[in-house]
Amino acid sequence: MFSTPTHFVYFACFVVRSPSRYGGKIQIAWPPDNAKMRIFVSTTGGYLLYASFEMKTKHRFDKFIKEALKLGARDARVIHPKSVATGAWVRMKCRYGCDGYARCLTCPPNSPTPEETATVLSGYRTALLLHGDDHTDITRIAVTLERSVFLDGYYKAFSFGSGPCRLCPECNLKTRECRHPYEARPAMEACGIDVFQTARRAGFPIEVVRDQGDTQNYYGLVLIE
Ligand code: SF4
Repeated sequence: MFSTPTHFVYFACFVVRSPSRYGGKIQIAWPPDNAKMRIFVSTTGGYLLYASFEMKTKHRFDKFIKEALKLGARDARVIHPKSVATGAWVRMKCRYGCDGYARCLTCPPNSPTPEETATVLSGYRTALLLHGDDHTDITRIAVTLERSVFLDGYYKAFSFGSGPCRLCPECNLKTRECRHPYEARPAMEACGIDVFQTARRAGFPIEVVRDQGDTQNYYGLVLIE
């Protein structure tokens, strides 16, 4: 029933038992690590376990969170790709208001449209949202993690960074062949992701920057499986 002995200890931390008229028991386990509550129903045939997936998932991807922090991210959280919002309006902000528009292969109009991105997101069930500030190279962290996730066996791993690609002094728009295809990744916003809504849904801070002294928050995303 438990994938590791640690899981059993977690589940055993807080248990409420109540008798049932069928002679079995209902146990509600509330682990102390913010994993979701689990309910067991005991019968003569043994325990039936519900909703164990969340807990295993949390532990399975802890190593990637630790790596993100080690690489310099301020925080990282495992999220469901369904909570990543896309919007047609995001492109308008790139097209009218960003001096990086059409200047590199990872930016609009060369990057995936919001519709394409939404289709890509629907092919995943786990992602890692990375949080950084104006001192964090969030794209480099996302790309490094993408490689770690891939080498761990998650062959669909793909990452999104923040801002235009700055790997070359000038992008190779002439032949449209990227000089660093393993490192160049589009920004979340360049693919039509509503970064504000996505970050807020995950409980991360993000506000409109009104003044140069305001806190700046940057986000990256790694699609895992
Ligand atoms: S790595 Fe160079 S060629 Fe590739 S997208 Fe970035 S700037 Fe353009």
